[in-house]
Amino acid sequence: IWDSCLKVIKDNVSLQAFKTWFEPIIPVRLEDNVLTIQVPSHFFYEWLEENYITLLKKVIRKELGAEGRLEYSIIMENNSTNTTPYTVKLPALNKKSLKNVPVSMPLNVDEKQIRNPFIIPGLKKVNVESNLNPSYSFENFVEGDCNRLARASGYAVANKPGGTAFNPLLIYGGVGLGKTHLAHAIGIEIKNQFPNKTVLYVGSEKFAHQFIDALKNQTSNDFIHFYQMIDVLIIDDVQFFAGKEKTQDVFFHIFNHLHQNGKQIILTSDKPPVEMQGMEQRLLSRFKWGLSADLGTPDLETRIAILEKKMYGNGIELPKDVVEYLAYSINTNVREMEGALNTLLAQASLNKKAITLELAKQMVDKFVKNTAREVSIEYIQKIVCDYFDLPIEMLKSKTRKREVVQARQISMYFSKKMTKSSLANIGAHCGGKDHATVLHACRTVVNLSETDKQFRSYLEDLEKKLTIQ
Ligand code: ADP
Ligand code: MG
Repeated sequence: IWDSCLKVIKDNVSLQAFKTWFEPIIPVRLEDNVLTIQVPSHFFYEWLEENYITLLKKVIRKELGAEGRLEYSIIMENNSTNTTPYTVKLPALNKKSLKNVPVSMPLNVDEKQIRNPFIIPGLKKVNVESNLNPSYSFENFVEGDCNRLARASGYAVANKPGGTAFNPLLIYGGVGLGKTHLAHAIGIEIKNQFPNKTVLYVGSEKFAHQFIDALKNQTSNDFIHFYQMIDVLIIDDVQFFAGKEKTQDVFFHIFNHLHQNGKQIILTSDKPPVEMQGMEQRLLSRFKWGLSADLGTPDLETRIAILEKKMYGNGIELPKDVVEYLAYSINTNVREMEGALNTLLAQASLNKKAITLELAKQMVDKFVKNTAREVSIEYIQKIVCDYFDLPIEMLKSKTRKREVVQARQISMYFSKKMTKSSLANIGAHCGGKDHATVLHACRTVVNLSETDKQFRSYLEDLEKKLTIQ
């Protein structure tokens, strides 16, 4: 049956569309005139519903007769197999014969009800698509000093959703530092451990739009009911609610209901509650009930580990110096760093061209042109240590060996000259020296370069290496 459906469909859509949206569909069963098709994702289902529903209805009717129905079964995105967690039933089509139905004529199907994401008719237990991205797992989330607290509290919440003092759990931090990733990871872990819990990830923008639509359609009660039956509600980027009073109101009610019933709430935001402007006081005070954990900028080691993890996931490897260079030179935003990595990986696989450090430098220059990049202290230390063939840890040690002292002083000198870091920060990168020591080091380097020709040529070499053209 499905095969003959496909034939009709093929004649009615472009080849590209056919390949993308119809070939992946797997017919799973036909029972009592109900054809169940399996689609790879919730998004896929929505797309079919949005764009091809009329066509699908027609072919179903053609093949199965007037009583024909279509059901979707969606493969769970967290890899669990052959379950049918979310089935949407289309009511039976009416009895008019297909020939008499003009394309644009609305069929006797309550489309609104089907499209309505909140209430799925005909199912006793409502199964909700969690919207979790399986690649944003804990496994793929690299631990570092910058995220230890947030990660650990997320993990605690995942083991005992609603049963810890971390309710709500608010994860905050700058752009591209892993808030969304961690929020998904918690959701995924909860789903793994408690498959029966209803977990829902939703961006606050989507939440707000859904609410506005519900107001328009006078279905705000459905909206509220839907959210109130969630066991674990994850709302990403709540700062977006700022200044939106009605949305804050409805969220406030949902929040209270969930919290009172021991349901887990997980929020992310780009700022801590104290700095959120335009947010109602009663909401802010609730945000503070649980735990706020911040995500900081990952240190060099963590950044390298993140890149390695992403590369491993892609199955392509870049030379170590290229990876290190990326980690050194893009040091504030993991997403940007990953973007640069992906661009390089794409080049590597497309052109079959070996990615050299040179190529990486050019690409990074293009990539972060607008963000006024400066070399980092870590990069300077690495270049200096490579140059003198010393392990980088030596700079941070207490050793007073002459060549180590010299390398340490030179790296302090370049750090002062080429970065905007404070003397104290530079000192901290060299094993906790104070600012006076850094200042002294810089003077020593200047003095030496004036008297010692050999030393001066070291400096010139290094300066060349450090200036990225
Ligand atoms: P945010 O939501 O804070 O803006 P994201 O969660 O979208 O940031 O993270 C941006 C990218 O960086 C994602 O691809 C994410 O996987 C990656 N990332 C951030 N932190 C880590 C980490 N600790 N380990 C692995 N990947 C990370
Ligand atoms: Mg995010």
